[in-house]
Amino acid sequence: REMKPHDTAFRVGPNQGARIGPGSFTLIAGPCSVESRDLILGVAEAMTQRGVKLMRAGAFKPRTSPYAFQGMGEEGLRILEEARAATGIGIVTELMDTQDAQAVAQVADMIQIGARNMQNFALLKCVARLNKPVLLKRGLAATLEEWLMAAEYILSGPNYNVALCERGVRTFSDHSRNTLDLSVIPPLKAVSHLPVLVDPSHGTGKRAFVPAMARAALAAGADGLLIEVHPHPEKALSDGPQSIDYQEFDALLESLRKLAPHL
Ligand code: PEP
Ligand code: MN
Repeated sequence: REMKPHDTAFRVGPNQGARIGPGSFTLIAGPCSVESRDLILGVAEAMTQRGVKLMRAGAFKPRTSPYAFQGMGEEGLRILEEARAATGIGIVTELMDTQDAQAVAQVADMIQIGARNMQNFALLKCVARLNKPVLLKRGLAATLEEWLMAAEYILSGPNYNVALCERGVRTFSDHSRNTLDLSVIPPLKAVSHLPVLVDPSHGTGKRAFVPAMARAALAAGADGLLIEVHPHPEKALSDGPQSIDYQEFDALLESLRKLAPHL
């Protein structure tokens, strides 16, 4: 804020169709991973019908176990490209390795840097040089200062189109997968001009708790949400337990619109 007193806002997606920043409440929704062409084309269509302009789905997945589904990689990118062409939805997808930067940047409207890579400085310097908006997730144990300094690596590229995403941090609590730190939003807003999104899916790890924390994020001053939505969460190849289905997503949208009629 010392350098830039005004809030950052920018446009994302085909025809600059989505806006991220104060004055908007932006929804980024979709499955955790690109699992198949059918899934992604279906979700892109379903989200477009609901007015959602940005779809999330990872082609490259950072999985805790090397034996878990690792994502479809390049093939996944081709599927995302097809979904974008078919529906006009904007694509938000994760970049894990500098060697995939060009391939991901060609398909993504916004590049996600995952929690585990928040301080991967080579990756941050790499996306700093790309002409693409970046969604920078908070590290699993990152302080506000560390998170903002990670963002500075991108801003100093210069790449000014950065949004922060709170996705929960590691605490002693074990009733949820992570502890969604909504209390970071007011202090972030006080010191930073960057938009702040909230991911209640990874923040809770349990689909039953996602809607309440999504509404709480809106109330706490977030500029939007990243939500995992899957038509059949029980069949998802990653993060099924925290993914909501279309019916639950519709109910969430309705409740958010009651709080924010402009949505
Ligand atoms: C994701 O968005 O699917 C993801 C892997 O998130 P995080 O990096 O926050 O764990
Ligand atoms: Mn996920």
